[in-house]
Amino acid sequence: MWVACLADRFADLERELNELDQPVGDGDHGSALKRGFRAAAEKLTDFKTDELPQAILMMAGSEFVKGAGGASGLLFSVLFNELGRACGESVRLEAPAFANGLATCVERITKIGKAKLGDKTMLDALQPASLAAAEKTSDGLVQSISGAAAAAEIAAQTTIDMVAKRGRGQYVAEGGKGHVDPGARSVAYIFQSLKTQVVSST
Ligand code: ADP
Ligand code: MG
Repeated sequence: MWVACLADRFADLERELNELDQPVGDGDHGSALKRGFRAAAEKLTDFKTDELPQAILMMAGSEFVKGAGGASGLLFSVLFNELGRACGESVRLEAPAFANGLATCVERITKIGKAKLGDKTMLDALQPASLAAAEKTSDGLVQSISGAAAAAEIAAQTTIDMVAKRGRGQYVAEGGKGHVDPGARSVAYIFQSLKTQVVSST
């Protein structure tokens, strides 16, 4: 199940993401995401195996925010809530719901966090991922998630040259220029993990 896989993956990534958060923040990003995904994975054990994706995704969103806390707890939970909402009553996540959910998620995170593209935040990876997913919708879910993962990977790397305008990075020297944004890197890791799982289940 994808929630458990993300919990395992982000437990492994805790140290790396905390280290990325040191020069541009307070060094807790990896621990926050690890706690968030672990909380979601623990709650999942109460769920029936035939639960609809919407219920699982919305549960993951609400448990994630409680477990992770901080700025990223709320912002990353939007990803799961919006993907869940986009699924409606569908019995599986399909490419159009994935792309639509991501597009709404970009809108909502922009509204909540007030960051613009180029402000060196998770949005700088999420927005290109959303566009790539939409472009591949007619090719199916594997292609759509693969496109999102590839786009997020490239985009996360581009945050190195950016000067932070939102989040803690705006208060460090040169807005953290020269360092990758940890939230953008996490977005890339999330899509990478989802891609691996979708590919291996087909
Ligand atoms: P905190 O800043 O509360 O310690 P984390 O370290 O877990 O939270 O997460 C930091 C990440 O959150 C940043 O790298 C950035 O990607 C993202 N972030 C912070 N503020 C915003 C914002 N206003 N809009 C979008 N993303 C943000
Ligand atoms: Mg932090």
